[in-house]
Amino acid sequence: MKTKIVYSEKCLGYGTWHIEGPQRVKTAHDILKAKGYESLVPTPANDNDLLTVHDAEYIWKVKKGLVEDTDTPAYDNIYEYARLSVGGALLASKINGLSLMRPPGHHVGRNGAALGVYTRGFCYFNNIAIAVKELNKRTLILDIDGHHGNGTQEVFQNDEKVFYISLHQSPNYPGTGAFTEGNCINFALPTNYGGQQYLETLDKALSMVNLDRFDVVAVSCGFDTHLGDLASLGLTGKDYREIGKRVARLKKSVFFVLEGGYVGENVGLDIDALLRGYEETL
Ligand SMILES: [Zn+2]
Repeated sequence: MKTKIVYSEKCLGYGTWHIEGPQRVKTAHDILKAKGYESLVPTPANDNDLLTVHDAEYIWKVKKGLVEDTDTPAYDNIYEYARLSVGGALLASKINGLSLMRPPGHHVGRNGAALGVYTRGFCYFNNIAIAVKELNKRTLILDIDGHHGNGTQEVFQNDEKVFYISLHQSPNYPGTGAFTEGNCINFALPTNYGGQQYLETLDKALSMVNLDRFDVVAVSCGFDTHLGDLASLGLTGKDYREIGKRVARLKKSVFFVLEGGYVGENVGLDIDALLRGYEETL
């Protein structure tokens, strides 16, 4: 297995009562470790990294614990956890790895909640957006989390270097992403859409972008599309393996960043399936 996992146990230190809790990531890491995946430990991002995407005032508010909503608590030291998760995405982007860190990031925009949505959906800093900004290469972001990445869309809307593709469940939080807008290609799909139809839709979405325009593919990999999870599209392990094959066929430099997925065992097995499909097709 070539793809390395980026992981630090430090990310387990907050939010035990929350659905976005430590167990989801710990269990996934235990599974991947048992399967022989190698892990690298990230270092925290600094404010200059965060400023590539977020406004200084928003960063300061997270640091001081001044920003909180019904989904996204102002935990003690959340700034430290959040910037370590950004560091995970930055490291993954440098080694073509997969960041298995929390908190997730794709719902948070420049100043917090994005595109008129009222909460940040368990996110503090937009991990993948910061990694894409720092790489500063022509990038296709493929967001396979079951929720629309409204934060990522807000950050990159009209950006000439970046395209964003999202397949997500609708109706569901955050309620954005109903339409394709310019460089943001959105497919809003019904609950338990099914693996076969999902893969056909993914093929269609990928056919809508000119691959010559990109050097990098950044995958926002959430696994809450798994059958029975928070934004179920009825996917199972074999479907993630097929997604991995499709990512490999793009023949670009690829990295992966964890978003959602709330059943740790599924997250671990689905990551393995995704990476198997990816590696066997390279
Ligand atoms: Zn999600």
